[in-house]
Amino acid sequence: MIYNEEFETLPSEALEALQLKRLKQVVERVYHTVGFYRRTYENAGVVPEDINSLDDLRTLPFTTKDDLKDNYPFGLFAVPMSNIVRLHASSGTTGKPTVVGYTKRDIDTWSVLMARSFAAAGLTKNDIVHNAYGYGLFTGGLGAHYGAERLGASVIPMSGGSTKKQLMILQDFGPTAICCTPSYLLHLAEQGRVMGIDVKSLNLRVGILGAEPWSERMRDEIEKRWDIKALNIYGLSEIIGPGVAMECLEGRSGMHVFEDHFIVETIDPVTGAPVPPGEEGELVFTTLTKEACPLVRYRTRDMSRLIKEPCRCGRTLTRIARLTGRSDDMIIVRGVNVFPSQIESVLLGIEGLRPHYQLIVDRRKELDTLEIQVEVGEEIFSDEVKVLQGLERRIARDVKDYLGVTAAVKLVGPGSLERFEGKAKRVIDKRRI
Ligand code: ADP
Ligand code: ZN
Repeated sequence: MIYNEEFETLPSEALEALQLKRLKQVVERVYHTVGFYRRTYENAGVVPEDINSLDDLRTLPFTTKDDLKDNYPFGLFAVPMSNIVRLHASSGTTGKPTVVGYTKRDIDTWSVLMARSFAAAGLTKNDIVHNAYGYGLFTGGLGAHYGAERLGASVIPMSGGSTKKQLMILQDFGPTAICCTPSYLLHLAEQGRVMGIDVKSLNLRVGILGAEPWSERMRDEIEKRWDIKALNIYGLSEIIGPGVAMECLEGRSGMHVFEDHFIVETIDPVTGAPVPPGEEGELVFTTLTKEACPLVRYRTRDMSRLIKEPCRCGRTLTRIARLTGRSDDMIIVRGVNVFPSQIESVLLGIEGLRPHYQLIVDRRKELDTLEIQVEVGEEIFSDEVKVLQGLERRIARDVKDYLGVTAAVKLVGPGSLERFEGKAKRVIDKRRI
């Protein structure tokens, strides 16, 4: 089902006309209401009247995470606090959180975008949504909550944590959909096994999973363990929260960006030059309708590529491919760049390894080192040392072959790595540069 049929299936000319109209409005507004934009535009020698086509967007300077930090907490707000009805912050995965505000209309827009996302996952008012995204400053919990309510579904406001209780509710309330991070859904499956619950036999049909990078192989693993369809959802608090882009049940490859509300670009993260569709680059978003914290050309540091080909669901919205990761998470080992999700892909392609791993980056004698710790099942872990060493060598070889990176591999016993209720922390960087 398409929630906003009209706006999600606009022909490209109509969509572009709508985007241009809204772009002009937002540039005009930030220029006149936010000191930061006025200053940067004056420095760059641009005025709102210069925007006469969508291509003109490229003449405007980027906005960065540092700009948000420099204006912490409320410096980029475009409306007085009396018009703000909600505050959220990023989870601060990579440092001090960035703070965002919402007007009543922003909350309304966001709810609609999340309702669209749920509809893209095949949900209707007849569904029961188990929401295990954290409630609080993090946008995941309340974003999904409002969206599910807007759709008319029944929402179970679980939040994160209390894993045993989550399983009890999953059994007793029989939700048909679950929202959480992919890593937490795996953790729930493990805990289910410990409690003797066959998670496949639950009523769940679909998972709306996001907030962290995950691989296609992780999707297979989740679908197999839960016997559900696992769909990818993307968002970030700065842009609105979850619901910036969502995969559809029909296509299941790439997430539709709700382009009537956001313009998406991809750029070369080093030079800032535009990258054409199909090629990987850093995602840059411009919000077209947000009132409280409009952002123009915001650099997300998330890496993906644009998919312009039509989708069989009928939505005309551009898709973004599964994210490789965020540029901050990229590990550079002796000049080779890798993302944790690429290592995850290699690991999950090897029989006997479990989907729990951690990457430890260090520096010895001026050289970067990478250690991959990955869990194996009890049957393998209790095997002879020789067998374990053979497997470690095999993994190191595959990582070298596929990704070109030299890594030390350490197999660890089941359950020995940390589990996460929200975003998994895959990289421990011990380098003191
Ligand atoms: P942060 O994690 O930066 O503190 P947020 O809580 O707003 O801030 O999370 C947004 C970030 O989470 C995104 O910028 C992106 O890096 C990551 N993210 C969200 N959804 C996905 C997804 N589906 N796939 C990969 N990464 C995602
Ligand atoms: Zn689609």
